Amino acid sequence: LLNPRKRQRMHIVHIAAEMAPVAKVGGLADVVTGLGRAFQKENHLVEIVIPKYDCMDYSKISKLTAVEADLDSFFDGCIFKNKVWTGIVEGLPVYFIEPHHPSRLFWRGKIYGENDDFKRFTYFSRAALQFILQTEKRPDIIHCHDWHSAVIAPLYWEIYVPQGLDSARIAFTCHNFEYQGRENPAALTSCGLDPKRMHRADRMQDNFIHNQINLLKGAIIFSNIVTTVSPTYAEEVQSSEGGKGLHLTLMAQNHKVFGILNGIDTDLWNPATDLHIAQQYSTNDIDGKAVNKAALRSVLMLSGTGLDSERPIVGCVTRLVPGKGVHLIRHAIFHTLERGGQFVLLGSSPVDEIQKEFEYLSQQFYQHPHIRLIVKYDETFSHSIYAGSEIFIVPSIFEPCGLTQMIAMRYGAIPVARKTGGLNDSVFDVDDDTIPKQIRNGFTFSGKHEKDLGAALDRAFHYFTHRKEWWQDLVRQAMMVDFSWNSSANRYAELYEKAIARSKARSQKN
Ligand code: ADP
Repeated sequence: LLNPRKRQRMHIVHIAAEMAPVAKVGGLADVVTGLGRAFQKENHLVEIVIPKYDCMDYSKISKLTAVEADLDSFFDGCIFKNKVWTGIVEGLPVYFIEPHHPSRLFWRGKIYGENDDFKRFTYFSRAALQFILQTEKRPDIIHCHDWHSAVIAPLYWEIYVPQGLDSARIAFTCHNFEYQGRENPAALTSCGLDPKRMHRADRMQDNFIHNQINLLKGAIIFSNIVTTVSPTYAEEVQSSEGGKGLHLTLMAQNHKVFGILNGIDTDLWNPATDLHIAQQYSTNDIDGKAVNKAALRSVLMLSGTGLDSERPIVGCVTRLVPGKGVHLIRHAIFHTLERGGQFVLLGSSPVDEIQKEFEYLSQQFYQHPHIRLIVKYDETFSHSIYAGSEIFIVPSIFEPCGLTQMIAMRYGAIPVARKTGGLNDSVFDVDDDTIPKQIRNGFTFSGKHEKDLGAALDRAFHYFTHRKEWWQDLVRQAMMVDFSWNSSANRYAELYEKAIARSKARSQKN
């Protein structure tokens, strides 16, 4: 990692419900792989444990083989057999747990969204810890993620430390506080926890619904390190508005709560080597951006002749959900047109109503010379938008970390972003004199109204049109920001090391 000091080699086991690219629903999957690889590059031993889903992308796993010994794990008062598989994903060693359970827990054709998700993932968590115990691994850190593997933290201290699996400190990363894993206390019995011991205000009792337990709260209380995916989000969740009922718990545990901005995969998102774009380019030669702009216009049949060639392209790649500021995105389309720009949206929505609305809008603008709305999910095409846009909007109302603003900057598309969560930690306004000049890289706004976004967008248009050279320098500056996993991994390493050192100091004292 970036730290010049030589680090002691650590053994880190991630236990998670997702891992990119084999089992990916959201950012959690990218963090497990990105963080894991950054540590592995520095010679730490990193292993990953995930469920063996039927719907994984098996083509991305190499050397998949069954481990010889079966794994016996406890659930619902019985012992179940599990087959464990090993394989390599993105260079990382992964263990896949396949339960032989009559409910066919991970043979559902999807990762989440089943009625018995609580049971599926508490089963998995218990089996994963049992696997570490049975194979006599002695990790320094067990790192779990989101509510799915949150129960690892109490299970570890309550059940596994007494059995001798006591080498590890527990790190827990919450990627989104919306999902907390609430259930009746009795449901904890299945994985072996005692509801009477756990259903207490200072342990796992939900802060709102008092007759329920809350897995996320359990992880916050029982972990040695609690992180979330940006410093600003870490602050926001400690407020009554942002904490979704957990702010008091987080505030009380504040000494171990940290926000670390995620990185992006800088090999995948690299304009200098990207084969999905019309022409590769880098900070030394940003002319390639104009070629990509022309290619984007041509593919989308946007006007680019005569005076139209001067129009900036404003891009947006997003899930269309209220948290992403759908009303602001809608406004940006019309505002861009008024200001003489061109607008390209690539977005899709899990919300039927929103999806239909944007499909309708897209038809309205079909053949419009300056607006194209592409209402679908298309990762390959997203590369062309990042490369072809000059301005990129990210008007999220709520954003734990956010990746699109970082990808956009790497491709020299200047973000116009709302100051929330990870956007506030990665986009710094060019006009903000309180921020050092060399890190200013975009346009930001705070309010949630159309006029707030409009004003920031106007400033971007003004600079783009009237200060062309300055804009080119800004593009270079944005492209040079280091969004790789290195610096984030360095922060995690410091936290791991401190937690390990504290535990060593304590055991020497005893
Ligand atoms: P979230 O995980 O909340 O959707 P992030 O900004 O953390 O938001 O990550 C979004 C990722 O998904 C980015 O890599 C972005 O390029 C990609 N993405 C979002 N919508 C689309 C889409 N319609 N087509 C292709 N890629 C998309």
